[in-house]
Amino acid sequence: MSTEFVSAGSLGEALDWLASLGSDAAVLAGGTDLMLQLRRDEQRAGTLLHIERLRELGEVRRSDALAIGALVTHRKLARAPELRPCHGAICAAAALVGGWQTQNVGTVGGNLCNASPAADLVPPLLVHGARVGLESRARGRRELALAEFLLDRRRTRREPDELLTEVLLEPVAPRTADTFMKVGRRSAMEVAIASLALRLTLAPDDATITAVRVATGAVGPVACRAVATEALLTGARLGDAIARAAAAQLSQEIRPIDDARGSASYRRAVIGRVLVQALDDCAARIRARRQRGHGDDR
Ligand SMILES: Cc1cc2nc3c(=O)[nH]c(=O)nc-3n(C[C@H](O)[C@H](O)[C@H](O)COP(=O)(O)OP(=O)(O)OC[C@H]3O[C@@H](n4cnc5c(N)ncnc54)[C@H](O)[C@@H]3O)c2cc1C
Repeated sequence: MSTEFVSAGSLGEALDWLASLGSDAAVLAGGTDLMLQLRRDEQRAGTLLHIERLRELGEVRRSDALAIGALVTHRKLARAPELRPCHGAICAAAALVGGWQTQNVGTVGGNLCNASPAADLVPPLLVHGARVGLESRARGRRELALAEFLLDRRRTRREPDELLTEVLLEPVAPRTADTFMKVGRRSAMEVAIASLALRLTLAPDDATITAVRVATGAVGPVACRAVATEALLTGARLGDAIARAAAAQLSQEIRPIDDARGSASYRRAVIGRVLVQALDDCAARIRARRQRGHGDDR
């Protein structure tokens, strides 16, 4: 079967193409996932709809909420000044996606729509309460929580005529820090064996956890929040005992498999240690900010 190629010059044109082609079209952003999948026959498409020229989707914007356009590349995300103060875990994850070649062309929208269990951007976006904006010619715009959008490995709630246009972030409370940690055989150029994002908010005593979000990647069919671990930590005073208990809980809560990158038992063992490290890292940064006299702010 031959594949047609069309390149949209505007969002309206892209939506028109999707309305007429439906599931016969595959959206082509940076192509770092899609081109490999086509070559391996893991995906089929009568038409490749190229969207990289849609400049309006290539920016990080601050309006009511902080919005990341679907075509923002990992390289741009890693350096985005709008995100660095309060959403550093997202920048850190983007900086760890593959090597610089992949970061220069791979996009946020592609990372989410590809729905890999190991997609690096998903855990930090989940802890920041991300919502995705989807547009179609027939039904206009809708928004979904990222957690609802991702159904399973390589499955999302995107309809064939929809384009993911942006990712919206929640504001961040004072005395909050976030972090992203990735376990791989090398620190970069490597798909995660396990990954974890944490967003931690401490009370003014610098010890009581007032809010916490934990999300994991590559340790289940889909990256997701660890709600039982979050419940255990919320309201607790930080310390070795609670960190150990949370690590044990998280090791039980994940659903890892054995694969070429690592065994399920290794993933269970390592994820708890990563959580302990992430709690230490976030708490140390919240305390350091207070000591530097930054008070409440980040
Ligand atoms: C060498 C290499 C290393 C990699 N390392 C990592 C890594 O460490 N971590 C990681 O997370 N990923 C990694 N990846 C995977 C990939 O680079 C990322 O997932 C990237 O973000 C995909 O973005 P893209 O723009 O290239 O997507 P594409 O390949 O263009 O698209 C991916 C999928 O999303 C769909 N799509 C894209 N954009 C939209 C949109 N706006 N609306 C609707 N559907 C859309 C496409 O139709 C396709 O199904 C790696 C890939 C390579 C080749």
